[in-house]
Amino acid sequence: MKKVAFYTLGCKLNFSETSTIGRQFEEKGFLKVDFQENPDIFIINTCSVTENADKKCKKIVKEAKKISPDSYVAIIGCYAQLKPREISEIEGVDAVLGAAEKFRLIELLDGFAKVQETKVLASEITEAKSFNNAYSINDRTRTFLKVQDGCNYGCAFCTIPLARGKSRSNTIESVLASAREIAATDVKEIVLTGVNIGDFGIVEGKRVERFADLVFALDEVEGIDRFRISSIEPNLLTNEIIEFVSRSKRFVPHFHIPLQSGSNTVLRRMGRRYLRELYEDRVSKIKTLMPNACIGVDVIVGFPGETDELFLETYNFLNELDISYLHVFTYSERANTRAVEMDGIVPLKKRNERSKMLRILSEKKRRKFYEENLGNTFTVLFEEDVEDGKMHGFTENYIRVAAKYDPMLVNELKQVTLDTINPSGNVEVREPEMVYERH
Ligand code: SF4
Repeated sequence: MKKVAFYTLGCKLNFSETSTIGRQFEEKGFLKVDFQENPDIFIINTCSVTENADKKCKKIVKEAKKISPDSYVAIIGCYAQLKPREISEIEGVDAVLGAAEKFRLIELLDGFAKVQETKVLASEITEAKSFNNAYSINDRTRTFLKVQDGCNYGCAFCTIPLARGKSRSNTIESVLASAREIAATDVKEIVLTGVNIGDFGIVEGKRVERFADLVFALDEVEGIDRFRISSIEPNLLTNEIIEFVSRSKRFVPHFHIPLQSGSNTVLRRMGRRYLRELYEDRVSKIKTLMPNACIGVDVIVGFPGETDELFLETYNFLNELDISYLHVFTYSERANTRAVEMDGIVPLKKRNERSKMLRILSEKKRRKFYEENLGNTFTVLFEEDVEDGKMHGFTENYIRVAAKYDPMLVNELKQVTLDTINPSGNVEVREPEMVYERH
């Protein structure tokens, strides 16, 4: 029995895809093992957004060859689609597969027989037209379910459309079937995943369904306690969806909404499809209907043309906004994007200073959000990992909670009252009030 190990870089989508490819291997009789367990085959799923993607990829290949010198190494993922030739030159790589090929890896790689020349099977991204269903089963608690892939937006800084192709989706019927399959495995929470999930509904180039209808249908699936919408563009997060989530028992009050900049000048240069006023309106709609909702924000600092004044517009905008945390990205030049041709380059030192300012602001926001919720009762889904005798889990509104380890609580939903914030920044619960929730 051949042993195969996987390594995933990047986002939830990559994790869902690695997991699905892993199941394909198991179905064909391969044994899935950890990276350290002398595998015969290594599959490395790469990301193009990761800083120094090339260096990281090289490092992982080197590590793999150290563990199993005679192993077969295949590289897949966004970086493999963008730079197949470059990757094929990394010592130790046997095959590189693009977006249209990665799900046919077992069939295409011919028994994983090593040949002199590195195999490069990466068609043009325009060939990646079909939707490949995927979901992760990494732990028992939570699953990332891919519902959509690719993007038609073309923001000036982004290489994702070049790495993943045009927007395309699963059908509602097929997503429901996957959700029911997942429910049968005792997983309690599904995180809906995609590149631009609000754009859900395009099948073979035609819009046939809507994201809102997917949300309504999933809400009826028995056996899943929670659905989380991972990240949704502000212009696609409609009142209809927000109002539904506010009434739903299964869709949790947690929204992650990319903003990227709080300056309209920068938003226009980025080619985003909204202005800050719309973003403000989305946040206010959510908070009016769900005062305890968690709102996460993606923001990019140092985009070309972002002067000190324009950065301050972003800083002040976010400072005033009722949001819960930020994911801060420092702009870096990417080949074949419009941004790379733009003037107004921001020096690296400034980019880093701005990033630091926003990271501090994020910590302030998170703490304030946690403090506002102390004394309230929420439901926590406890996870398996133990750290210094403590276990952790998230509330429906994404507050990370710590409690004394109890194996009986793993993968259980518990009602807890939030008590204090501990030095690690997690919220401790009032132990005596922990009660089992029947479901
Ligand atoms: S919406 Fe913009 S940033 Fe997001 S994937 Fe599409 S092009 Fe990239």
